[in-house]
Amino acid sequence: MHSQSHHILNTVFGYHEFRGEQQAIIEHLISGQDALVLMPTGGGKSLCFQIPAIVREGTGIVVSPLIALMQDQVSALRQQGVAVAFLNSTLDFAAVREIEQQLLRGELDLLYIAPERLCQERTLQLLHQVDISLFAIDEAHCVSQWGHDFRPEYIKLSLLHEQFPRVPRIALTATADASTRNEIIQRLDLLQSRTFISSFDRPNIRYRVKEKNNPRKQLLAFIKSDHAQDAGIVYCLSRKKVEDTAAWLQTQGIQALPYHAGLSAQLRQQHQQAFLQQDAIVMVATIAFGMGIDKPDVRFVAHLDLPKSIESYYQETGRAGRDGQPADAWMVYGLQDVILLRQIMAGSQANEQVKRNEHAKLESMLGFCEITSCRRVGLLNYFGEQLERKCDNCDNCLEPVETWDGTLAAQKALSCVFRTGQRFGVNYLIDVLLGKNTPRILQLGHDKVSTWGLGIELKDTQWRSVYRQLMARGLLAVDEGGHGSIKLTEKSRPVLQGKEAIYFRKEMAKERASAKPGSKAKQQFQQDPTARALWDALRAKRKQLADEQEVPAYVIFHDATLMEMMAEHPATLQELGKISGIGATKLEKYGEDFLTVLTADDYQSDGSSVAEQHSDT
Ligand code: ADP
Ligand code: ZN
Repeated sequence: MHSQSHHILNTVFGYHEFRGEQQAIIEHLISGQDALVLMPTGGGKSLCFQIPAIVREGTGIVVSPLIALMQDQVSALRQQGVAVAFLNSTLDFAAVREIEQQLLRGELDLLYIAPERLCQERTLQLLHQVDISLFAIDEAHCVSQWGHDFRPEYIKLSLLHEQFPRVPRIALTATADASTRNEIIQRLDLLQSRTFISSFDRPNIRYRVKEKNNPRKQLLAFIKSDHAQDAGIVYCLSRKKVEDTAAWLQTQGIQALPYHAGLSAQLRQQHQQAFLQQDAIVMVATIAFGMGIDKPDVRFVAHLDLPKSIESYYQETGRAGRDGQPADAWMVYGLQDVILLRQIMAGSQANEQVKRNEHAKLESMLGFCEITSCRRVGLLNYFGEQLERKCDNCDNCLEPVETWDGTLAAQKALSCVFRTGQRFGVNYLIDVLLGKNTPRILQLGHDKVSTWGLGIELKDTQWRSVYRQLMARGLLAVDEGGHGSIKLTEKSRPVLQGKEAIYFRKEMAKERASAKPGSKAKQQFQQDPTARALWDALRAKRKQLADEQEVPAYVIFHDATLMEMMAEHPATLQELGKISGIGATKLEKYGEDFLTVLTADDYQSDGSSVAEQHSDT
């Protein structure tokens, strides 16, 4: 049995080895038992039900909450020669009939279906007439009433177990927390099933958080230097900021499109389609954009505003690098973000418990921004997972943060808040510390307080950083009136009394040239014009084939597969077929096309250095 699933992995999907727990899960299902699978985005959940569905007799029924996701997976599977179809509201009556006939004739390996349709009496009757190999419940966290993706129809899915007790079920999700997991087990009646938990680490994602300092320019510099030809997502909090940022990026020569809930459905659809099908679109979006985006080659996710919790941050950044290739999670954050979020929380109408919960989540998010040790260790620790050692793939690991003893500066900053009556915002406080003679200061007589001019040893920007860090650590609070004035909290007392020392991060005076992400191979060929030309030619070929069939480019081949072609220089179909991601069907369909590109004289000069570089990454 082992060899059978491995054989399918090789010949149908073109992959050499199973990843992580895939094989154990697949064998478990093939033997007819239930499973709950917790795996991060990009971990490779789909194969866990696709392969058993192909191996076992009958059709595998896959419940999937989003039409876009369903269609994506179905077109990808068809490319691989798998007999697969979907049933959802986009099909007309005749098409539905045709698929039902195929199902009854036992011609389908897999059938994707929306939960509401599955629960209809008519569908259930149909399913009772056919051989079913398994039920797969994708995005299983949709049963959780407390989660933001709650789908009421998911709760009805417990009927699968009642009506088809002998058919194995597999529920899958990328949501990590224990309460959601328990809800899934209860509601889907999976008490007897085995749970497979993978590490939630995404080692190919590089985390970077920078101090905000002209964010648009920082974003542009980041995209131009690290991701000039790549697809990415830029998250902003407000619709207006989404539109402004997208428009501005366009004037700077970046192919950016806006996406938020205020745009017409048609426009949203159009932008999403462009993002999926083209190679290098930057989507500027509110968090309305994300769920159901299965695009594997999103090379970066950038945040111009701070997310409300680490859960959101992790989910949003998780959309980068599903294909396992290097990707960036990049964020800028500053004093204003802290003030704004603190104000939103303070003004929230929610009940006390919800408020306290929101507050705790924000604290953790701010803690993550200010952390001076490995960010990945911090992130995973938040989700209850211990990493053995630091990751060497986050900004803090790559460019260790320097700290300075800020006890005296903190005392000055805090006491300035106190001396001026806890009624002012940060800009005013800094003016006082720097000893400025603004009309307002003179009018209010604050040139007479003891902290006036007491802070000339630091620059204005350094004081902002001091205030941000004090605020982030909860030594200062924002007033509830919404005017941005700040006051002391209980936590500031020991510092003011000199009982506690405080250390701050040293901000970089200048943006240091960051170690670029990306595999060595990619960096190498970006400098080698011949390799660059071959890369462009391979991508152009892929785009042409994709356009002919109106499917996204990655449905033909992933970047990783093209990269391996460049490294391996296959000269025959047989050699080409050994490359990861090329199964028998794709080899037959596209092999000649890509061989022609690979063997063209134009690209023959010297790719050998690329090959060497690649093989050791
Ligand atoms: P998830 O649903 O967990 O987010 P997917 O099932 O979409 O992840 O898989 C992520 C990517 O990894 C896909 O492009 C898939 O083809 C690829 N993949 C999955 N398993 C393997 C494997 N064993 N070897 C190589 N690539 C794999
Ligand atoms: Zn690290």
